[in-house]
Amino acid sequence: MTIVIDDTAVPPCATASEVYHDESLHSPRSRRDMSAHEWRAFVSLRAEAHRQCAGCPMLVDCLYRAVVEVDVSGFVACTTETDRARIRRELGIVVQQPQPTTLGMPRVGGGPVSHEAVMQMRQAHPKDTCQQLAERLGCSTSTVKRHLRRARLGVVEAAPKVAAAKAPPSVDDVLECFDRLESSQVA
Ligand code: SF4
Repeated sequence: MTIVIDDTAVPPCATASEVYHDESLHSPRSRRDMSAHEWRAFVSLRAEAHRQCAGCPMLVDCLYRAVVEVDVSGFVACTTETDRARIRRELGIVVQQPQPTTLGMPRVGGGPVSHEAVMQMRQAHPKDTCQQLAERLGCSTSTVKRHLRRARLGVVEAAPKVAAAKAPPSVDDVLECFDRLESSQVA
């Protein structure tokens, strides 16, 4: 049997993982804490991720899911975590956390893993090294370390809130908020 791989179905975040897994996109420091050189490098990296997402055929679906359905970390669908939180505030919604599966937490598109996904995987494979966990999750070792450090330091994750029983926003609602983001003009 011949297996034909359709490259067009692979999102850029899966093929440009060095961009999406860069620690600075997951935990951006404030402009004040960066030198001019670091800031330029960060802006350039963010613009590159933005360009990749902007050309992704899954962008609209990925953005909708990352805003309305699953709260993931990192840069996803041309947005930072702060951008997505802003859109949710505008829409007046809170995100219901996904139910874990035996394989861990589901992911949005090919984007970054959530804190819950890392902790689920750690629980399922307590003897794995960070590198092995990263391979299982398809993310960088530094991302795994960052989430484990957050757990060790007792950074309390906001308890998942049950979304209000109102109709979810439409795709157009989300896109309108997205268009108003300053960062949506980056690329
Ligand atoms: S994060 Fe979403 S929009 Fe960006 S490349 Fe991946 S699947 Fe596409």
